[in-house]
Amino acid sequence: MAAATPLYDTYNRAPLRFTHGEGAWLTTESGERYLDFAAGVAVNSLGHAHPHLVKALTDQASKVWHLSNLYEVPGQEALGRRLMDATFADKVFFTNSGAEALECAIKTARRYHFAKGHPERFHIITFEGAFHGRTTATIAAGGNEKYIEGFGPKAPGFDQVAFGDLDAVKAAIGPETGAILIEPVQGEGGIRPASNDFLKALRALCDEHGLLLILDEVQCGVGRTGKFFAYEWAGITPDIMAVAKGIGGGFPLGACLATAEAASGMVAGTHGSTYGGNPLAMAVGQAVLDVVLEEGFLQHVRDMALLFAQGLASLKDRFPDVIAEIRGTGLMLGIKPVGPSSELLMAMRREHLLGVPAGENVIRLLPPLTVTAEDVREGLARIERAAESLTSSSASGAAKSA
Ligand SMILES: *Cc1c(COP(=O)(O)O)cnc(C)c1O
Repeated sequence: MAAATPLYDTYNRAPLRFTHGEGAWLTTESGERYLDFAAGVAVNSLGHAHPHLVKALTDQASKVWHLSNLYEVPGQEALGRRLMDATFADKVFFTNSGAEALECAIKTARRYHFAKGHPERFHIITFEGAFHGRTTATIAAGGNEKYIEGFGPKAPGFDQVAFGDLDAVKAAIGPETGAILIEPVQGEGGIRPASNDFLKALRALCDEHGLLLILDEVQCGVGRTGKFFAYEWAGITPDIMAVAKGIGGGFPLGACLATAEAASGMVAGTHGSTYGGNPLAMAVGQAVLDVVLEEGFLQHVRDMALLFAQGLASLKDRFPDVIAEIRGTGLMLGIKPVGPSSELLMAMRREHLLGVPAGENVIRLLPPLTVTAEDVREGLARIERAAESLTSSSASGAAKSA
């Protein structure tokens, strides 16, 4: 064991020390290169050291770093306007993280009903397998006992039902229900996409019962599924949406988007943040949108996603004793191995390929959206070698175990 670390022991960290990166590649202290299909868990949406992002950040760094929200912050209005133009939303509140974006979403929904004279409608229906962050409210929303245990009473007002179970949602709606909160594609839960029909049905239920539909697109948003936001695939719009991760491309940035109606309870003094909407974050967020909203970029994501998914499907066919299932959508793909996911993840790491563990024994593959066809093929070749090292049926597997 290494000497006691000064850091909290909250993470089981891999013994990898990266000092720089470029595109989909990371380099360690000792100069070893890794293909990064973890991308900071869907954060490094444009890869590492993207020149346009580097320039936006350094240009802003020489002007002004921080301004209080006591003043107008020009970058907030500019980025806000662009988000409004590209989404369902009329209003935005900027945050520094996903959990804060969810906190704002939860508060916005509750405050909406409060302002309409229904303070009792603070209950929010959530889904098993969800992940919404690590604050005291968002662990209650996520409902994962591992994250809740030992932190005092679970925050009230979250009613959890099975993911995709419309009858359970209907049964959970009561006079205190104010909203439904869902990730269109569960990330942490194991790359589980909600069907378009389910999302449409939730939208209809919300309309029928006067509920607000809150989407958590912290992981699946900003181009990850091949649309700017995942809800576009279902042809619906939410009332409130939490965004983070990919929108900052590695700079801490989140946002809570809402329709004017949904945000109508959030009047002066009801919410705030010291750093939310910081000029550095606004500059980087705009630079990310410059790239993601550029003509042809989302088509590139869809093309790379198809190439990757087809390659993974053929690996599954070739290594049925190693790979049980390929799942996901866009560049949010998952491999469910036959054995423990930690084993395949480790075999991938030996091939210098990074992925991310998730629920249901799934390995998440979240390459940067800028990933090239060459990178995808290289990633597939590395997964192939990793699978080969674990297979018992192939000649190479037999040779290896001999
Ligand atoms: C990562 C994540 C969060 C929490 O974001 P933080 O920036 O870690 O607070 C919330 N929801 C989803 C879907 C996420 O993937």
